[in-house]
Amino acid sequence: MIGFDLNEEHRLLEQSVREWGAREIAPRIHDLDRAHKFDPTLLPQMAELGLLGVCVPTVYGGVGMDYISLGLASEELEYVDTSLRVILSVHVGLNCLSLLTWGTDAQKQKYLVPQAKGERIATYGLTEPAAGTDVRGLQSVAIQKKGRYLLSGEKQWISLADVADHFLVFAWTDLEKKQQRDPSGLTAFIVERGFKGFSSGTMKEKWGILAGNTGYFTMDEIEVPPENVLGEPGEGFKIAMFALDQGRYTVAAGATGLIRACRDSSVEYAKERRAFGVEIGQHQLVKAMVAQMESDYQAARLLWLRSGWLKNKGRRNTRETGLAKWFATVASERAASDAVQVHGANGYSDEYPVGRFFRNCKGAVIYEGTREIHTLMQADYALGYRTDRPTRCELPAHDPSA
Ligand SMILES: Cc1cc2nc3c(=O)[nH]c(=O)nc-3n(C[C@H](O)[C@H](O)[C@H](O)COP(=O)(O)OP(=O)(O)OC[C@H]3O[C@@H](n4cnc5c(N)ncnc54)[C@H](O)[C@@H]3O)c2cc1C
Repeated sequence: MIGFDLNEEHRLLEQSVREWGAREIAPRIHDLDRAHKFDPTLLPQMAELGLLGVCVPTVYGGVGMDYISLGLASEELEYVDTSLRVILSVHVGLNCLSLLTWGTDAQKQKYLVPQAKGERIATYGLTEPAAGTDVRGLQSVAIQKKGRYLLSGEKQWISLADVADHFLVFAWTDLEKKQQRDPSGLTAFIVERGFKGFSSGTMKEKWGILAGNTGYFTMDEIEVPPENVLGEPGEGFKIAMFALDQGRYTVAAGATGLIRACRDSSVEYAKERRAFGVEIGQHQLVKAMVAQMESDYQAARLLWLRSGWLKNKGRRNTRETGLAKWFATVASERAASDAVQVHGANGYSDEYPVGRFFRNCKGAVIYEGTREIHTLMQADYALGYRTDRPTRCELPAHDPSA
């Protein structure tokens, strides 16, 4: 049976995030964005709403909702501002769900529980100055010495780099494999901000998602105990890709919210503004832009819902989630560009939100797999050049009793 109805729990979550965003964020977002200001007081509020552990089982400090709930929260947050959804993407999608799936019980107790409660904030450090798409080009290394790892390297373009307490970091533990670019030499580590040799900063030159924190961190021979290896040594690449399956889901749902925001702003303006004696919404070419936003919104929503449904069942969804992310982010770029167009010169001013949507949408076409990488992936699936084999740890299915 296929059902498209949200259940009562979903509707309540959607409504509470929507109301919170409208009440607490919408009136301030213009000023935060203009001031390039990340507001840390939002984090306890998001924790209070249960968002920072929304789909983490209650036994690990979360609220035990399902993966559709994570999607709904992402969509509602990005409807208000992309910076809010990014928090969910890195904290829940990329980090918490990786710990939930690949972590030992001790790691879950120590790191996941405080993260899911929102007492600690977490992020994901893969990208480096010389390596983004090309993960095999990473330069960070972790050398074993006296029973510990000495971790050195630099990560850049990291969301919440200057805010987070915990970092999921990827580095080479096998230097021969590094030379051969064999990804089975990469290992995932849980790093705490307080570890000696860790320092971070905020990137100042960013021109989008200005109310969000994006930065860099350096690791200068950080001593990491072996119990902070996530998964097995050598499983870092698989964990990094697994994490992206979860992060991309939140990006897909978030971009869907951005398309809806573009549609709603455009509809409102098209009924206010008059040209040639009628509301501009009466002009066919304006209608065409609104219609495109509507169809993109509906299609993007169905794609992420399917992906969430697969996640709830604990089924592999790399292909479906990648498609949802690719479609929604590219469509959000189209929607934001057209929303500016519908607003004419006013769209070119910060007086209206559509200029912010236009700046914000571009990041998601770049991070968590660029548009080009998703194009290649989807072509390779269709051509039969790519298939997914089961990984050692699959995302746990949603268990309503957990
Ligand atoms: C706002 C923002 C937040 C971010 N947050 C995080 C974060 O929290 N954690 C994190 O680890 N990273 C983060 N990133 C980094 C992001 O994941 C990388 O920017 C992304 O992976 C692309 O890498 P790159 O910028 O090095 O581009 P490159 O890899 O240098 O790519 C440049 C261009 O070349 C194309 N290209 C590269 N290789 C190929 C190929 N094989 N075939 C076809 N085209 C190709 C790309 O599609 C792109 O158009 C963030 C980025 C932004 C903008």
